Formats: sequence, C-alpha cells, structure tokens
Amino acid sequence: MSHFKAPPKKSLGQHFLTDRSYIDKIVRAVNPQPGDRLVEIGPGQGAITFPLLKKHGELTAIEFDRDLITPLMEASEGIGRLTIIHKDVLSVDFGKLAGEDTLRLVGNLPYNLSSPILFHAIEHAAAITDMVFMLQKEVVDRMAAEPGSKVYGRLSVMLQAYCQVDALFVVPPGAFRPPPKVDSAVARLVPRDPATIGIQDPKRFEHVVRAAFGQRRKTLRNALSEVCSSESIEAAGVRPDARAEQIAVEDFIRLANQVATA
Ligand code: SAM
Repeated sequence: MSHFKAPPKKSLGQHFLTDRSYIDKIVRAVNPQPGDRLVEIGPGQGAITFPLLKKHGELTAIEFDRDLITPLMEASEGIGRLTIIHKDVLSVDFGKLAGEDTLRLVGNLPYNLSSPILFHAIEHAAAITDMVFMLQKEVVDRMAAEPGSKVYGRLSVMLQAYCQVDALFVVPPGAFRPPPKVDSAVARLVPRDPATIGIQDPKRFEHVVRAAFGQRRKTLRNALSEVCSSESIEAAGVRPDARAEQIAVEDFIRLANQVATA
C-alpha cells in the first residue's frame, strides 16, 4: 500500500515523475559513486529518491511539504539511510551542508522556483560537484543557449559563467502525474574551477549582465549607458554597437572587469 495519501499540490509545483524509463535515465545520468554526498531537492513521493537510495545507500533530501516527510521516511525503511531536511531549499546553505565535502545535487525542480534555485545553487558553486536537474524544457533551452540564439539571455550568461551547462534529454508531459502543460528536460551543470572563471566582482558582473539584457533590443552603448561609457566597452574589446544577445560569456566577464577598473 502506498505511504503517500495527500493529493499533489499545485502551489508547490508537484508533478510526480512516474515513467520508469525516465527515472532510470536520471539515475544513470547521476551515476552515484562511492563516497558521493547526494542531495536531492524536492523528493516528492520519492520517484528518484528511492532508486538513488537503493543504489547508493544514503541520501539527503530537502523537502518543503510537511505532508511528505513522514511518508518518505516510512517508505525509505529497509532501502537506505535517508535524511530529510524539512525546509525551503532557498534557505539551505549548501556550503554549510557540504562542510569539508562537496555535494552532488539532483532534483526534479518545482518549475515555479527553478530560476531562484539555479541562482541559489551558483552562489554556492564552490560547495557543489555537479547538478542534474529536471526543469521546463524552455528553461533548459535558455540555460544552454549560445550567443546569437533567440533564447540566449541573462540566465544563459549567468549560469554558463559559473558552470559548464549541458542539456541531456527531453521528458514529455505524460511521464508525470499530474502531467505539466509543457515539455521538460534534464540538464547537467558542472561548476567551473573558481580560479579559472576570472570574474573580479560577482555583484558587478550580475549588474552588467542584467542591465545589458534589460533592454536586449538596444545596442550595448545604450543599454549600458547608466553603467559605463562607450569607451570602456571598447576598452574591454567589445563593440558598443553590438546587442547583448550577440556577446559571448567571456566578453561579458571582460566587460564587467573593465567597468570595475574604469
Ligand atoms: N522528485 C519528485 C518527482 O520527481 O516525482 C517530485 C518533483 S516535484 C516537480 C517538486 C518537488 O519540490 C515537490 O515535492 C515539492 O513539494 C518540492 N518543493 C516545492 N517547493 C520547494 C521548496 N521551496 N523547497 C524544497 N522543496 C520544494
């Protein structure tokens, strides 16, 4: 008999993965190795949690919905050592949780919170080995987009500056209960070595990228008029008459560093 009685909660983005073949694909993408510290965001009814627990023996899960905590603990008996953190994931300090280790994050994320969760994770990138996340396909397309693409934007630049981003596979609505309205996709993010990223001032970088894409139809000269002069854009080796969607991640980093010294 199922331990899970409460109906799915829309407000918490609860779409439970039920298709075994996609669950297996996610577990294969994570491919846990001995000694890994696995942390799942939003275990729900345990679709990914229990197969991972069975393979790995232990796992920490962060779940906000109190109705799921006891059923998850009960269902984990005899499978492995499950630790549940009953909190909003955005209030979890991954650095503290990792301690001396680093974490491997996995999650079929609540779609209404996917961008905040991604930004929260990159703030703690140094504590993270990698992340395998399921999100709306449209968001994964933006995360992995290259300059010149229609969907290349703030999310692409911010994530790719700190992580290698790879789109892995698409998951159709029918793989979930209840089905979401849109396709989903799984992506892997691997934080870059902080020594190689080259961002001198993360806040300034964020500010420049936000301003540049705030008015993506405008040239950089105009979009960044409040942030820096045309000369400093040129001094960074970037064309002031280009638009944000044409600028590579490395160029944004150089531009933000130039603005900081100008
Ligand atoms: N992993 C399960 C699966 O694949 O079937 C559930 C995925 S469901 C899309 C998202 C899960 O995230 C739900 O269990 C939901 O309760 C949980 N959740 C929503 N908001 C959260 C938050 N702020 N912090 C932690 N978990 C959250």
